[in-house]
Amino acid sequence: MNLWSKSDLTERFYSGKTRALHGTHVSTGDRLWSTFPNMRPMATITADTLDWYGFDEFGGSVHDVIGTRCDPYTHHLLQHDDYHYCCHSNLTRALAKHCDLSLDEAERHVHDVLNVFMCTGFTRDTGQYFMKASPVRPGDYLEFYAEIDLIMGLSACPGGDCSQEHSSDAAACYPLLVEVFDPGEEARAAHRISAPSGYDRSHGTK
Ligand SMILES: [Zn+2]
Ligand SMILES: [Zn+2]
Repeated sequence: MNLWSKSDLTERFYSGKTRALHGTHVSTGDRLWSTFPNMRPMATITADTLDWYGFDEFGGSVHDVIGTRCDPYTHHLLQHDDYHYCCHSNLTRALAKHCDLSLDEAERHVHDVLNVFMCTGFTRDTGQYFMKASPVRPGDYLEFYAEIDLIMGLSACPGGDCSQEHSSDAAACYPLLVEVFDPGEEARAAHRISAPSGYDRSHGTK
């Protein structure tokens, strides 16, 4: 999943900073932070039906901010061929279409993701990133409260439950439903848009 500020695509979800502030995997109550210089909550997670999973015996959990996204460049590096339906390319095509941008321009705005539903961790012995079959089942969901006006991009990974291979059409994939709800007039009236960082941005020159 990618997030952009609707008014400025250069303000986007900052996976690394969200990880530093909340941990390797996010859940209810955690916030999804935006890039510098604004660095503010873009969205808050308000419900997660996979909360029960916690961390398993291997250190795996769901909804990570440690993976980057499957992409054709890494695939090309490792497999020496071209695959065009990685999450990176899916997000690029979707953003280009939604914002009427060239592929080249849209691709620059695609960024490290929140891996919704994916079950991942680091191996205890060697510290390497691993993926295993996701416990997600039909009906499970992750709910966000939009703190600012957002554009969201979501790719159903060609890796399916991501337990086997990525970057091919081999895995079984299932549709993802995205619904946008209105919290109601009262909540909208009471909402305070998260303020950009108060740092003065002089970086030691004053
Ligand atoms: Zn993917
Ligand atoms: Zn995947």
